[in-house]
Amino acid sequence: MVHKRQDFNCFGCSIQNGEHKFPGGFLYSGRYFNIVQDPCIPIPGFLVVNAKRHIASIAQFTPSETKEFTQIVYIARKAMLEALGLKTAYLVQEERSCHFHLWILPEYEWMKKFKPGISSARKIMRYATEHLITKRDQGNLAKSIRKLKKYFKDI
Ligand SMILES: [Zn+2]
Repeated sequence: MVHKRQDFNCFGCSIQNGEHKFPGGFLYSGRYFNIVQDPCIPIPGFLVVNAKRHIASIAQFTPSETKEFTQIVYIARKAMLEALGLKTAYLVQEERSCHFHLWILPEYEWMKKFKPGISSARKIMRYATEHLITKRDQGNLAKSIRKLKKYFKDI
């Protein structure tokens, strides 16, 4: 196993070692990366490609990680398109985080009330956390996870 548990509290590591529970669990597991529904933001199909290793930067990838990363981002984005019909998305990566992860934030009709572009990503996430909280929203999220799991199982 490439993951090594850290002595400090890292959110990315807590996902990898199962300490942090999140909707649907791992949707897809590669050798070096996992795909999960974002563990905090209830936007259906908001996927995170999370490194198994505790590294901060793409510049720390090994050649094998580099190769798998391209494939896994492709698989994640294709799943969003083919299983959920999500035609556009933002790919967001911030090296301020100590544990490498890539956000693939889909664009929904309701997001158009925000200014187009990456500067609205945080506002959209905050809005989703505060507003997508009804039983219907939870049902939509669970349904999207079921569809994605089926998609990943079949590839
Ligand atoms: Zn970590």
